[in-house]
Amino acid sequence: MITVDDARSLLLDLVAPLPTERVDLVASAGRTLSEDLAARRDQPPFAASAMDGYAMKSAEVELHAMFKVIGEAAAGHAFDGVVGPGQAVRIFTGAPVPEGADFVVIQEDISRTGDLITIRDEPGSSSNIRAKGGDFRVGTTVDAPKRLRAEDVALLAAMNCDTVPVARRPVVALISTGDELVMPGDTPSPDQIIASNTFGLKAMLEQAGAEVRMLPIARDTEASLTTAFSLADGADLVVTIGGASVGDHDLVGKVAQDLGMDRAFYKVAMRPGKPLMAGRLNGAAMVGLPGNPVSAMVCGEIFLKPMIQKMLGFVDQKPDVRRAVLTAPLTANGPREHYMRATLSPDGIAAFDNQDSAMLTLLAKADALLIRPPHDPARAVGEEVEYLKL
Ligand code: AMP
Ligand code: MG
Repeated sequence: MITVDDARSLLLDLVAPLPTERVDLVASAGRTLSEDLAARRDQPPFAASAMDGYAMKSAEVELHAMFKVIGEAAAGHAFDGVVGPGQAVRIFTGAPVPEGADFVVIQEDISRTGDLITIRDEPGSSSNIRAKGGDFRVGTTVDAPKRLRAEDVALLAAMNCDTVPVARRPVVALISTGDELVMPGDTPSPDQIIASNTFGLKAMLEQAGAEVRMLPIARDTEASLTTAFSLADGADLVVTIGGASVGDHDLVGKVAQDLGMDRAFYKVAMRPGKPLMAGRLNGAAMVGLPGNPVSAMVCGEIFLKPMIQKMLGFVDQKPDVRRAVLTAPLTANGPREHYMRATLSPDGIAAFDNQDSAMLTLLAKADALLIRPPHDPARAVGEEVEYLKL
């Protein structure tokens, strides 16, 4: 058996960053920027008024000073004259500040009669002007790799980037295996259960940036598994669920081997999730996850998500391990690294007493996986532990 860290690095060796494709800006949210992208203009492209008011020369701005209004500048409509001594231009937010002016007095501080204005309140020291290029300049970059959020899309739009280079989405094929499984909504016979892992993993991996194909459930026969593998053709990562341990009906290892899988490892010293196999099959990475619902989801979190990340271009990403103090004691851990379902509170972290790897209700309640190293001794309230946030 190998350690979780070793398994993770072997799994990462099975995948490589995917090529770039260009998508329209409107389709870029949630995608991963794969090349640095440079602004195609300055923003603002001109010195712009930040307020509604009057533009004039700062040297002339003082309480009770009077000016003649010689024109107007509104957003999208520049004033094309020059502001001279004793003159002002009516200006609105977003309008270019006219030549000759370098100060905007806000309209609340002005009284106006016809074309004459007087500064009637202390105008303050702010010029109320946004400098040309004050937000960003031509050539300012958004650096790759970066998962694009709504906020980034807004910035790229302002930069006039209408198409965006992103990493191709990793294609993942998910294969549930087992004679006992039916799809949600189907009517199970009394000895059957609903396939859950595929749905949880699909949601998880799509959130991580993958395109997930859910293949038909494979039955516990070599023929059915072989068909399932053939349907996975073209995927970057093939993930099977169940059938990976040593029972009479656990055929995934055998079938994958017969199809020519180059095995990287089998079995990891972790709880939950010991029977995990991985390798390369027909040009794709292949990971065989254990069938127990919690094991499958925890392995997805710990192993599959980093593989997706690497394919998206995050090559040196380390797990986001955080620390918190225990609000409930822990008994000594056994020989395997244990990922315990736990809840966070403002005071710290507490693991659930029951860690049965078939209990999805507890996984759904958990917001963290508390990490216990192999042979970690009993821990008391107040001691610090490591965890991953779910
Ligand atoms: P296996 O690894 O095939 O022996 O499966 C271990 C346990 O996980 C068994 O109780 C299976 O019924 C269950 N199981 C396997 N695959 C799934 C799945 N896709 N969804 C829910 N439970 C599953
Ligand atoms: Mg099975």
